[in-house]
Amino acid sequence: MTKYIFFTGGVVSSVGKGVTAAALGRLLKARGLSVAVQKLDPYINVDPGTMSPYQHGEVFVTEDGAETDLDLGHYERFIDINASQASNVTTGRVYAEVIARERRGDYLGGTIQVIPHITNEIKRNIRLVAEKSQADVVLVEVGGTVGDIESLPFMEALRQMRSDVGRKNTLYVHVTFLPYISASRELKTKPTQHSVRELRGIGIHPDVIIARADHHIPKEHIKKIALFCDVRKRAVIPAVTSDILYNIPLLLEETGLGDYVIDRLKLKKANAPELSDWQKMIAKIRSSKTKIRIGIVGKYVELHDAYMSVREALYHAGISNGRDVEVEWIHSGDLEKGKGWTQFEGLDGIVVPGGFGERGVEGKILAARWARENKVPYLGLCLGMQVMCIEFARHVLHSDEPNSTEFDSHTEHPVISLMPDQHALEDMGGTMRLGSYPCALMPGSKAAAAYDAELVQERHRHRWEFNNSYRNELEAAGMVFSGLSPDGRLVEIAELKDHPFMLGSQFHPEFKSRPNRPHPLFDAFLRTAVARQEGRLAAANGTPPVEAEEVTAVS
Ligand code: GLN
Repeated sequence: MTKYIFFTGGVVSSVGKGVTAAALGRLLKARGLSVAVQKLDPYINVDPGTMSPYQHGEVFVTEDGAETDLDLGHYERFIDINASQASNVTTGRVYAEVIARERRGDYLGGTIQVIPHITNEIKRNIRLVAEKSQADVVLVEVGGTVGDIESLPFMEALRQMRSDVGRKNTLYVHVTFLPYISASRELKTKPTQHSVRELRGIGIHPDVIIARADHHIPKEHIKKIALFCDVRKRAVIPAVTSDILYNIPLLLEETGLGDYVIDRLKLKKANAPELSDWQKMIAKIRSSKTKIRIGIVGKYVELHDAYMSVREALYHAGISNGRDVEVEWIHSGDLEKGKGWTQFEGLDGIVVPGGFGERGVEGKILAARWARENKVPYLGLCLGMQVMCIEFARHVLHSDEPNSTEFDSHTEHPVISLMPDQHALEDMGGTMRLGSYPCALMPGSKAAAAYDAELVQERHRHRWEFNNSYRNELEAAGMVFSGLSPDGRLVEIAELKDHPFMLGSQFHPEFKSRPNRPHPLFDAFLRTAVARQEGRLAAANGTPPVEAEEVTAVS
């Protein structure tokens, strides 16, 4: 019998509900249990794929090609599992399905209502994750905060789940926040009490309260929350903001949360927690004091969440390379206006991440030029690979004309053009080339050296691709198409021969990076950046530069 843990949020949004749930998932996995995850999002979009990154942050892409909430990225990174389409359900998805059924006549004669039709569809989706994954525990997080009008049907579905599958198979975890009043230097529990009252009004009595705070939480506060909210003292978990994100599982473990959940859900299969590798990783993070500055050149840089997985993947590569990666956020729009170039000073690597639309793209092309001409390590992700190819074509053809038809539909040199199956599409939602596809690596290339493999699987989210009519010309000038679809038709990776590391992938490697298993391309990129940093520092100190530990070049 699958056990369900339901996470709701109280007091304010952005308290780290997803990270908390993901951290608990790691504690369960460390006890030998299998875990599956689901995020229920109350907004009406069918998926976040069509939303602006300013509204929603990054769109996280799963192996099976679902465009999902960025919290699923936390789940994948903390628990080291692969989420799927079933892992993200929105109000839009639920209603679209119920309305489609109504139109088919499936409910003939019936009046379609929120309860039971919408709530039943939500519950069907929750059970689907359990059925598909056969996991011991399914973690289900509801987006938003208790009290939101739009999350009510989800809350009601969660409430019903307890009578459907039984008390011993369900656990309600409420994640709240204790605000700090600086004048009196104290944390306040009242908003938590109100939030729990609101939750109980919906019929959900929380089993566990996770109290987030930015300051130490005194024992009396825990007692008070337990008393006023009618939750066992052992089940009120203090969760003070951590300086290291990935330390949260260990901090939660110290509070006894893992054991409490095991007892409460009677998870007999559970072993003693095995967290020694995770502890070693945290020790390694603590010891990496040397900073390295890497620039991320994008157009949504004001909102760092828009590049969540990219930033995390860089951080992971930093752990394995003994560096604390400091990201320099560079606005590509500024570069076009001649501003922001001072930010490039002292950078040891440049990442140009994915993106859509014309705004800011010329700035990204300029950043790629800067990296090529100054031989600074460059990693291009999806659009970042496309701009790298455009920049190189402009250089080779001595013309500003090469472009992507996404930005100039009449360009004389469409180096990046629309994939044939994308021409006639009218729907924007869910119609890109999405999810995992194989990529064959060219032996001897930097890509093959980084992966130490011949064939890899990577996740995609794009409409445009490299135009094969330019392959020969760019190859002759020093570009290597080191990753191709196995039929040889689609360019998946491009790299430059005469450069320490200038590589772009049409896919998004950032989604597969894990804190304890950095993605090979990020790892290789950062290794070259570290070599550059060491060389730079040695030169500044007057000592001969350390031999650059370069990734094997193409012969
Ligand atoms: N806009 C480009 C395309 O659709 C790149 C997409 C991306 O970076 N994810 O091909």
